[in-house]
Amino acid sequence: MTRDKFLVFGSPRLEADDIQAVVKVLESGWLGTGPQVKQFEEDFKNYQGAPYAMALNSCTAGLHLSMVALDIQPGAEVITTPLTFCATANAVIHAGGRPVFVDINRATLNIDADKIAAAVTPRTRAVLPVHFAGRPCELDKIMAVAKQHNLKVVEDCAHAIETEYHGRHAGTFGDLGCFSFYVTKNVVTGEGGMVITNNEEYADKIKMYGLHGMSRDAWKRFSDAGFKHYQVLFPGFKYNMMDIQAALGIQQLKKVEKFYQRRLEIWNEYNARLKNLPLILPAPFAPDTKHALHLYTVLLDTDKTSLTRDELLNALVKENIGAGVHYTALHLHPYYRKTFGYRDGDFPNAEYAAERILSLPLSAKLTPEDVDDVVAALEKILG
Ligand SMILES: *Cc1c(COP(=O)(O)O)cnc(C)c1O
Repeated sequence: MTRDKFLVFGSPRLEADDIQAVVKVLESGWLGTGPQVKQFEEDFKNYQGAPYAMALNSCTAGLHLSMVALDIQPGAEVITTPLTFCATANAVIHAGGRPVFVDINRATLNIDADKIAAAVTPRTRAVLPVHFAGRPCELDKIMAVAKQHNLKVVEDCAHAIETEYHGRHAGTFGDLGCFSFYVTKNVVTGEGGMVITNNEEYADKIKMYGLHGMSRDAWKRFSDAGFKHYQVLFPGFKYNMMDIQAALGIQQLKKVEKFYQRRLEIWNEYNARLKNLPLILPAPFAPDTKHALHLYTVLLDTDKTSLTRDELLNALVKENIGAGVHYTALHLHPYYRKTFGYRDGDFPNAEYAAERILSLPLSAKLTPEDVDDVVAALEKILG
């Protein structure tokens, strides 16, 4: 066994000041949505360069509310990638729409922007690209095809907090951008999410729909601003973020660049030390872009080894190394097959990647010894 203690995949880096910030909220007596959430929204929109930011209890909630804000109705089609987490497609379905998958580019693992136009029908209302692993999609092409066909764009930025494309942050290109602060993501609040937009109407809708459909700033009704009656304008959802979560998010966001630099070191080390193993390493970064380095994914080169991806995963666990699979092809899960008729072979590039892909630990929490252990385990298994 390469190490004594199991290396948990995606475990976040939490420091004493992060913990203190949460304790302070607990001691304050105001645990729910309040001043910390407001501050986190301020900080996040400044970081991203977006006019509006709305904190929620998950990115899934953000994706759902984005669909609601865009008035995605039963019958509407939304184009997305099959190499993503199920939340991306489920948000479309929750709003009554239909996810229409378009194959990925084998090198970038992002939706193939050149194939989007062919999937557009008279029912298509929006495109929902995912910046896979933190690598920006070809946003110039996606925005052009959206404009040409009069489609809205929602960016799934769950992996893409630090992502930039041609000098601008991911999430500011589309009509709406949705971020995740889930435990494994680059900035964590435990559970949590944020939507950014430059459209005031969408911002207002998302705020209201995220808190029962109650009129503006209903969370203030118990504050020292004085009691205010609210009105229910829509049967909304319960998607608000708590101050306990936001306090952690404020701290984590201050460290976003420090954590990024640590992940960049690990990324470069993996690139250098794994290149002679039967693994296809991540493609180089495109010029004038910033990759958020959320996932270090490799493809097992099945032409050069008889091992399968699942055998490699199990062998890593035996060495006490936790790894991830992002993702098995979404269209082949039972629900989407049954409901939408998707079949094996529909998206060959996504299926090729999904059968071979594996995510190695990349958290800023990793010590140099942890990285040595990951490399040593892979050398032992594949060398
Ligand atoms: C994590 C993730 C989500 C969902 O984020 P939550 O905050 O857990 O709801 C959505 N899309 C992608 C691509 C993700 O990785």
